[in-house]
Amino acid sequence: MGLHKPIAYLNKLIKQTLVIVDGMNGDLNFEEGGNLVQMNRIIAGKDPVLIDAYAAQLIGFGIEEVPYIAMAEDIGVGTTDLANADIVELNKDKGSRKIKPSRRVAQLSKHIIEDAACSACYGSLIHALERLHEKNLLNQLKEKLYIGQNFKNKRHDGLGIGTCTSGFDRCVKGCPPKARDIVEYLERYI
Ligand code: SF4
Repeated sequence: MGLHKPIAYLNKLIKQTLVIVDGMNGDLNFEEGGNLVQMNRIIAGKDPVLIDAYAAQLIGFGIEEVPYIAMAEDIGVGTTDLANADIVELNKDKGSRKIKPSRRVAQLSKHIIEDAACSACYGSLIHALERLHEKNLLNQLKEKLYIGQNFKNKRHDGLGIGTCTSGFDRCVKGCPPKARDIVEYLERYI
């Protein structure tokens, strides 16, 4: 049955009243860890499908790329309708202290020029770069990406990530932007 169908049907059988996702230091690409990406986020909600649809986008996946999410929606577990979801952000973390990067995260960070980026913003960009790598697109990225609070109100002809870089010629807005939004922008751009 693979992995996706059992996940969808397990969620149909087990009724959940509260779902809490530990998004503090999730892994880049492997559930058993090794490449921590600091995002300093906790996500909570009542609808398991909506929560996973939201979390998938935070780490750069389209909902359609995670088959069990649509399967669960089809059998009535919940909804993927993020456009009409009631999403409230609390206690936004503006801290920019970073944990020591793994070798893979350090490799991805070579594409970034960072100055006081919030953890969630920087983590979104790291996830987005890894998703591009998985699509064999990262090697087509020919310029560095700027990110961080110290780029606020600065003009630049580069490509910025996050609302702090809205004075740049090109910018992916959001505070922080979802990794999925960064991926979609870079897919169109490169
Ligand atoms: S855009 Fe927002 S999340 Fe990103 S570095 Fe600026 S303040 Fe932090």
